[in-house]
Amino acid sequence: MQLAQRTHRISPSLTLALDARAKQLIAKGEDVVNMAVGEPDFPAPACVIEATLELARTGRVRYTPGAGTPGLRSAIAEHLVQTRGGAWEPAQVTVCHSTKHALSATLMCLVQEGDEVLLPLPAWTSYFDQVRLTGAKPVAVASPVDAQGFHPDLEALEAAITPRTRVIMINSPNNPSGTVWSREEMIQIVELAVKHDLWVLSDEIYRALVFDDAVAHSPAGLVPGAAERILIVDGASKCFAMTGYRMGFFAGPVEVAACVAKVNSQTNGAPNTLGQFAYERALRETPPELEIMRRTYAERRDVLVAGLEQLGLKTPAPRGAFYAFPQLERYMDERGSLGLCADLLEEQRLALIPGIAFGIDTHVRLSFATDLDSIREALKRLGEFLAKRS
Ligand code: PLP
Repeated sequence: MQLAQRTHRISPSLTLALDARAKQLIAKGEDVVNMAVGEPDFPAPACVIEATLELARTGRVRYTPGAGTPGLRSAIAEHLVQTRGGAWEPAQVTVCHSTKHALSATLMCLVQEGDEVLLPLPAWTSYFDQVRLTGAKPVAVASPVDAQGFHPDLEALEAAITPRTRVIMINSPNNPSGTVWSREEMIQIVELAVKHDLWVLSDEIYRALVFDDAVAHSPAGLVPGAAERILIVDGASKCFAMTGYRMGFFAGPVEVAACVAKVNSQTNGAPNTLGQFAYERALRETPPELEIMRRTYAERRDVLVAGLEQLGLKTPAPRGAFYAFPQLERYMDERGSLGLCADLLEEQRLALIPGIAFGIDTHVRLSFATDLDSIREALKRLGEFLAKRS
């Protein structure tokens, strides 16, 4: 059987594959602690559920315009004015069938065979293969790490730029590390993009999930004259606990938004109608559940990070998102983080995500989108495992 060449450039999402293996063991009745999950363990807010039922009951669940309903596009534009500042028009917004789809459609619009896309590490696993699917090449750039997190290495990024470089893809708050870049770091990235005529594709899906005094800075509006090269993607999955609704959006220059809508119109048609209605409600009402979820994540993070440090594991402070990314290099053999996570699952029934999925083979990712009992049990199992390997 001969399948298209482009499909050989990519592999199934590593994080989804491990999550599936853990779920398979759970289905068989095994006592697995699943710290691999990348989705909130909360129900969607009450207003979201009500809106979904309200529309479903009318029976008018039909196709919407391909770029999204006028109501949702204007709600997103207003939300952008409030959260990113500056002026935003609905025409700059294209609603997408998830943030993942917003990312892939945007890349389809920006790059082609032979182009290069810069990925400061660690980078969300899907970025690599989404870039490869377009025919372009992902160029990973290492980032120095300290107790505050992973910092963009401006010199290394600049050295990696070639005449084929088109885009720099960024993600703050970051999956897998929880790092939140400072305003200064964000400005430096935009200035680099201006200097080398690059797009900045900013995945802001964890923007609302920040802890302590952290502020999630968007590259939008930071550098005068740079607006035409700043492209934002965001969505409902993480901050509104709406993963299954598959709601995301692109926001940026009108021409790019129209191009994303054109690509989407030929790939998935219109985004989900119920999802759009519910997402609009969530954006307009700012449900009280959001703050409760955010505070709960912060409490869980404190327990998890303190426990990891007690085990002697260096963990860059997660100041956003819902992941911790400790360093476990000295416990790894030649199979690296993948081998370590496979052993943890088989020996301790503990599911984590190997750092190699994010371009960093010395670390592993633990999600704290799970209850405190599971977090404590995970720390216990991890401790037992590390003790055996010491
Ligand atoms: N971007 C990042 C950094 C993510 O971690 C995820 C999901 O894990 C997504 C995008 C995809 O979100 P969505 O559910 O909207 O496709």
